[in-house]
Amino acid sequence: MKKYQTGLFVVLIAGLLLLHVCSLVPLTGRRQLSLVSDADMFSMSFVQYDQFLKENKLSTNTSQTNMVKGVGRRIQNAVTTYFALNNLSQGLNGFVWEFHLIESEQVNAWCMPGGKVVVYSGILPVTQNETGLAVVMGHEIAHAVAKHSNERMSQALLAQLGGQTLAVALQEKPQQTQELWMGLFGVGVQLGAVLPYSRLQEGEADHLGLIFMAMAGYDPNSAIEFWQRMSQNAGAKPPEFLSTHPSDANRIRKIKSEIPEAMKYYKK
Ligand SMILES: [Zn+2]
Repeated sequence: MKKYQTGLFVVLIAGLLLLHVCSLVPLTGRRQLSLVSDADMFSMSFVQYDQFLKENKLSTNTSQTNMVKGVGRRIQNAVTTYFALNNLSQGLNGFVWEFHLIESEQVNAWCMPGGKVVVYSGILPVTQNETGLAVVMGHEIAHAVAKHSNERMSQALLAQLGGQTLAVALQEKPQQTQELWMGLFGVGVQLGAVLPYSRLQEGEADHLGLIFMAMAGYDPNSAIEFWQRMSQNAGAKPPEFLSTHPSDANRIRKIKSEIPEAMKYYKK
């Protein structure tokens, strides 16, 4: 009986803990597990990003580099406007935006927490032009502003360290915590083992990405063609971006259904 009561007590405490740390995210309208503060998340991200830039070769192609920076700025401005319009501006506190094109055959792109974007030159043949690039950058930036990485890190902490906050985990088990982080965002170590986002998060990033690109002045209809081109790239060894972003008929159908909403934001 005593054992049973203790068990119940533990479950109750765990429940209370989860209730406390699940915050409602206005941008997505759903509850996200949040064991990590933005400040902690961003400081790890910024260090990792600088390290990545040191270890990888920046593109020497001036016009492509300018395109990446230009599209990035336009989407950044769209995001800032969207957040202001929806009274969400504080959700962007601490963001320090950066956009870099690196020389690499990898078909890939990502945005680390706090607005740190990298585009690999290998994805440019698939994006084809500025609008195609805006599809990818809008999507990756949407993951970052919807705090999807915070959610993933929190889920990993809960699973492996019993729901310690990042601050506590870093103090008590720095090695294990670093390994968790590298497993999720190990872009710098080139393991190629970065965990994909969940299907739910992918859907949110597609949806928000369409709105951001439209507000930035890019026709969201181009997203359909981009994802079709990406899926045609699936060969024996699918590109990194495709392996984390399965471009199946369902995804394309869902994007199609969201285009009319995004078109309301579209300004040429
Ligand atoms: Zn994604």
